[in-house]
Amino acid sequence: MSLTKRNLTLDQLKSGVLSGDRLVLSQAITLCESQLPEDQRSATQLIDSILSHTGTSLRIGVTGIPGVGKSTFIEAFGLFLIEKGHRIAVLSIDPTSTLNQGSILGDKTRMNELSQNRNAYIRPSPTSGHLGGISEKTRENMLLCEAAGFDVILIETVGVGQSETAVKDLSDFLLLLMIAGAGDELQGIKRGLMELADMILVNKSDGENIEESLRTKIIFEQALHYFPQNINHWTVPIETISSRQPKNLDQVWKYIDQYISITKANDYFYANRKNQNLQWFREGLSNQLLKHVFQDSKLSSKKKEIEEAILQGNQSVKSGIDTLLKYAFN
Ligand code: GDP
Repeated sequence: MSLTKRNLTLDQLKSGVLSGDRLVLSQAITLCESQLPEDQRSATQLIDSILSHTGTSLRIGVTGIPGVGKSTFIEAFGLFLIEKGHRIAVLSIDPTSTLNQGSILGDKTRMNELSQNRNAYIRPSPTSGHLGGISEKTRENMLLCEAAGFDVILIETVGVGQSETAVKDLSDFLLLLMIAGAGDELQGIKRGLMELADMILVNKSDGENIEESLRTKIIFEQALHYFPQNINHWTVPIETISSRQPKNLDQVWKYIDQYISITKANDYFYANRKNQNLQWFREGLSNQLLKHVFQDSKLSSKKKEIEEAILQGNQSVKSGIDTLLKYAFN
């Protein structure tokens, strides 16, 4: 899967991406997702070369338990935004894809209509086999999509996992989808998750479900009341919506727009992005360091030796870490 096989030079990839060519964009993303060291080197060059064309989009995270309606919502909301003149990229984070060799819903026929729209680009989850590398890949994919002119990036969490913080670290605004009557525990209406959300949507508020959805909305509002104020004094809005029979999507957009205006005016928007960059640098660095340990034969056999000593009870965890670090850096 090297560059030469596809006969595209780095310059061609760059100009294809910048011109919004979706085929070239897909090739560029495949290059970035490749594990081959030579591809990784080219990928770094490519990302560096497009960096000045990134950062201009709105990055919106979408999370919630499987079945809550995330992809149905993204399809409806994506089409709604395209109507308004936007170009939409849909990316996903799937922490389980390392185990499953692909997203559970990977080659889905989800988001049918959106996927056929020329103003939309949908990319399934990266399936990198490396520790923590998956969200890193999603981030690179996001930059490439921005360079290709997609001005709203919807980042969906897929599968059951700990991806909420990863999507929070990637997005400017996080939408949490809920449904009526699914039980608090099941939906993760834990402090943590609700505190991460910038807006809560009670989805499937249609047909016989409307009354129940409105009751659920009130319960969530009461729950939120006991939470500390958001850093921007932003009161997290809760809206009942339907994704299947699109309803209240304009309200969702109105709140996102409001939030972005407030946070751009008080600089939080930019500060948050800078912090996210640092966060990603640190995470990427620790991933690479770990990768180095696993790939370097001397280090890796030293690591095995220490693990054996820990298993036998001959070495403490703390001294094992110290020993390996000394071995690596001295
Ligand atoms: P995801 O796993 O969170 O991505 O959920 P899906 O988008 O795949 O939706 C799960 C199921 O809920 C599907 O059968 C959808 O048709 C249904 N669904 C999603 N949104 C709505 C909605 O607004 N109203 C109703 N009635 N059903 C919905």
